[in-house]
Amino acid sequence: MTTQDARLPEVPPELRNNVRIGPLDWLSPLYNWSRKRSLWPLFGGLACCAFEMIAAAAARFDQARFGMEIVRPSPRQADLMIVSGTVTKRMAPQIVRLYNQMPEPKYVIAMGACAISGGPFKEGYNVVSGVDKLIPVDVYVPGCPPRPEALYNAFLALHAKWDRERLSQLRWYRKDVADEGIPVPELGPDLVDWRVVAKLQATEE
Ligand code: SF4
Repeated sequence: MTTQDARLPEVPPELRNNVRIGPLDWLSPLYNWSRKRSLWPLFGGLACCAFEMIAAAAARFDQARFGMEIVRPSPRQADLMIVSGTVTKRMAPQIVRLYNQMPEPKYVIAMGACAISGGPFKEGYNVVSGVDKLIPVDVYVPGCPPRPEALYNAFLALHAKWDRERLSQLRWYRKDVADEGIPVPELGPDLVDWRVVAKLQATEE
């Protein structure tokens, strides 16, 4: 094949029949199928919802059927964060830091009313009213607490989301999108989100 596109590397003539350079969307179904069977969740729980998450991983429900029994202790080896429980302001910097350390592609499930909106503790002095104030969330699982079956439904919702994704559209394969991570919020007398500070400074100028 010829390399007409200036953004693509030049392929020597003798290799043009052996090398394919260009959009790999034809591989997307295979890529998405393999991701569905090899999702590795990050180990950790925040409050009571975590026990339902643990039950979902135990023998009665059998998370292994999704290829998800390998729960990783390190964010460097995980691609799914299940935020299960109340997100306190003290934990917020750690959650963002762990999210930043996860490799792309990565996904987040907000499990339970607390992770979605603060739940019964909404507007509490020490509670973040929803983890999506800090990091992007892919699937929300309502309930207080949600049953393991509801968490499984979230896994299926993630699978359905991947079925719609194409390799050429994915953020982490695009050179024009920089991933600098999310600024880690700082806990002082209150939680300081540096993104909000920057926005406020910009409006003042
Ligand atoms: S949503 Fe309910 S069960 Fe889950 S962490 Fe909050 S209070 Fe606990």
